Amino acid sequence: MKLLPLPADGQTPVRVLTIAGTDSGGGAGIQADSRTMAMCGVHACVAVAAVTVQNSVGVSGFHEIPPQIVADQVRSVVGDIGVGAAKTGMLASTAIIEAVAEVCREVGIGRDGAIPLVVDPVAASMHGDPLLHAEALDAVRHTLIPLATIVTPNLDEVRLITGITVTDQADARRAAQALHDMGPRWAIVKGGHLRSSELSTDLLFDGENYYEFPAPRITTGNDHGGGDTLAAAIACALAHGYPVPEAVEFAKEWTRRCLAASYDLGAGHGPVSPLWRLSHS
Ligand code: PLP
Repeated sequence: MKLLPLPADGQTPVRVLTIAGTDSGGGAGIQADSRTMAMCGVHACVAVAAVTVQNSVGVSGFHEIPPQIVADQVRSVVGDIGVGAAKTGMLASTAIIEAVAEVCREVGIGRDGAIPLVVDPVAASMHGDPLLHAEALDAVRHTLIPLATIVTPNLDEVRLITGITVTDQADARRAAQALHDMGPRWAIVKGGHLRSSELSTDLLFDGENYYEFPAPRITTGNDHGGGDTLAAAIACALAHGYPVPEAVEFAKEWTRRCLAASYDLGAGHGPVSPLWRLSHS
């Protein structure tokens, strides 16, 4: 696959900011974002929004960072280090979403700013453990998604956010339209969880045109962190100046490679892995 250019020794790399939750098991959330960013040659900046207590079997609890501290991390990083793109993941609560949206508008992150924003509207883990308070869904719809350059829900998140259960490509188009109506520049409906289909087809929509990204399905129980990896890779490509469809194309192939390189870890679901990159120059 075509990879993103790596920085020369001593050259300051492209920076991307992730605003998200930690995963003590190291497979998803900020850990997945940072792993993918590093393996893409990107310097990861991190604004921690929540700390999860998590292993391969599930999430047993989380602690929310005070909203002002989350916003201050963003302000601190953008004001000094500067970033080429940003990504949100687990934001947990309405108060954190509102604080993040406010600081993003202030520092120029988002669809109307200079810094593109990938919104991964994380709501629950693959085990069904909640990562977002149910009452915060309204803030996801009305405050977070309208800020996005691109929003990247999986099918469970599509159902929670739009009320549409996707079972085929016609449903996916309706869902992409419903998401786009909320205000992001682009919406993607990911087909990875539509296990009835042999292909995993992601559908991208800009309000006028649909772009389909079909790929043979990789069947593995070790897909923890797959959604984070896709969104992080999109952010890396956007920071390198890729247009959105090319960024999605890159990220889709990147995530496929990470799925193919996933490994067993603990008694539950292992993580997707960007470590394959180490042996590919
Ligand atoms: N934990 C955190 C902190 C996350 O951000 C996410 C997903 O975005 C998950 C867990 C869930 O990952 P998965 O659905 O791959 O289990």
